[in-house]
Amino acid sequence: MKNFDIIIIGAGPGGSFAAKTAAENGYSSCILEKEELSDNGRYKACGGAIAWELVEEIDYPEEKIARVIESLELHHVDGETYSKKGKGGVVWRSTFDKFLTDMAVDSGALLKEEEPMINVEQKNGSYVVTTNKDKYSAKYVIAADGVNSPTLKLLNWPFFASEDIILTITEERKTTISSIDKHLGSDSVHLFFGIKNLITVGYAWLFPKEDKITVGWGNQINLVKNSREEFKKFTGLPFVNQVLQNSTLEIFKPHLIPVGLRSKLYEDNVFAVGDAGGIVDPISGKGIPYAMMSGQIAIETIKTCEEKDKLDRLGKIYEKSLDRNFLKVLKAKRIARDKIFQSDENLKKFLKLWENYRSSQIVMGKLMD
Ligand SMILES: Cc1cc2nc3c(=O)[nH]c(=O)nc-3n(C[C@H](O)[C@H](O)[C@H](O)COP(=O)(O)OP(=O)(O)OC[C@H]3O[C@@H](n4cnc5c(N)ncnc54)[C@H](O)[C@@H]3O)c2cc1C
Repeated sequence: MKNFDIIIIGAGPGGSFAAKTAAENGYSSCILEKEELSDNGRYKACGGAIAWELVEEIDYPEEKIARVIESLELHHVDGETYSKKGKGGVVWRSTFDKFLTDMAVDSGALLKEEEPMINVEQKNGSYVVTTNKDKYSAKYVIAADGVNSPTLKLLNWPFFASEDIILTITEERKTTISSIDKHLGSDSVHLFFGIKNLITVGYAWLFPKEDKITVGWGNQINLVKNSREEFKKFTGLPFVNQVLQNSTLEIFKPHLIPVGLRSKLYEDNVFAVGDAGGIVDPISGKGIPYAMMSGQIAIETIKTCEEKDKLDRLGKIYEKSLDRNFLKVLKAKRIARDKIFQSDENLKKFLKLWENYRSSQIVMGKLMD
């Protein structure tokens, strides 16, 4: 049995940032990841859009960015278009996740790849985690193993409500850079909306990455009747059809996005971070920065509570700190989301405002009211 202060399950952005923060604060930590990580390795269904502030914050090398973006083009199927300016990047998740995991390892965390967690149980005040290869023990467990979180399932935590889950379909399509530049523009990502005639609660997207286009669609899972047909309806839109002409399908992958929180984010020295906790923007589905921040905050919470001898308050302090940093806004967005997707009229009002304001400004400033 190998002993650590903290075991982190999952080497996505949430797990890697938790491991990095743990190592920097002097905790022995081990990340268990079921896949093999490499720059062009395991595929993760994701738009991969990140804000430029994040690129700068982690010093992400520009040559690893699949496309630099200057605008978000918003299409409503009724014909209206809106344009939101702002610099960002789209990344391949294999490359991005590997970069973050390398940061954690460079800080001193131990990474165990191709070691899926297969069991977790509490024994004599600590956790014993079993993988396909070994057994590990630690006082604290960070569940950073994504929306389905096998860790939290084994610990009998409740799953999300169906209104809080978006079913997505992603296709990676190979085309040419000149075709992307001609149809989508060299530095734009495109989002598609329409409650009555496209997607009831959600949206679809075309994100260009080098000579490929990530084609995505997502709808609230309990409202989906036939996902493949609904996806086809999107790719059949005249604009989209033209963009995808002569492209070849390389990958097809469904995946879930949680857009509401789990009923708890902490219990008995176990922290849910990132998608495992449902810590995602409920309007846009953006989750990468929130996974990273929640991973960091979970470890800072452990440190604060240990130093101040407040171990009975770990859960309260974790959620308070998340709230203070960003979770309060995400909770307000979860409520606003229902109103935005109530009618096409509300949706268009939101898209018009989104051209000039951040979605947090629209929600917190009550600009929709
Ligand atoms: C279609 C789609 C498009 C998206 N687009 C964007 C976007 O453009 N921008 C954005 O910010 N967010 C986007 N998101 C959301 C974003 O992908 C997630 O919020 C983010 O990946 C969450 O990070 P995480 O670390 O919590 O979990 P994940 O990235 O899901 O990582 C979980 C890790 O746990 C590992 N794991 C699972 N089970 C086990 C096990 N038993 N043992 C060991 N390891 C295990 C997995 O292999 C994985 O590496 C998108 C999501 C989807 C589905």
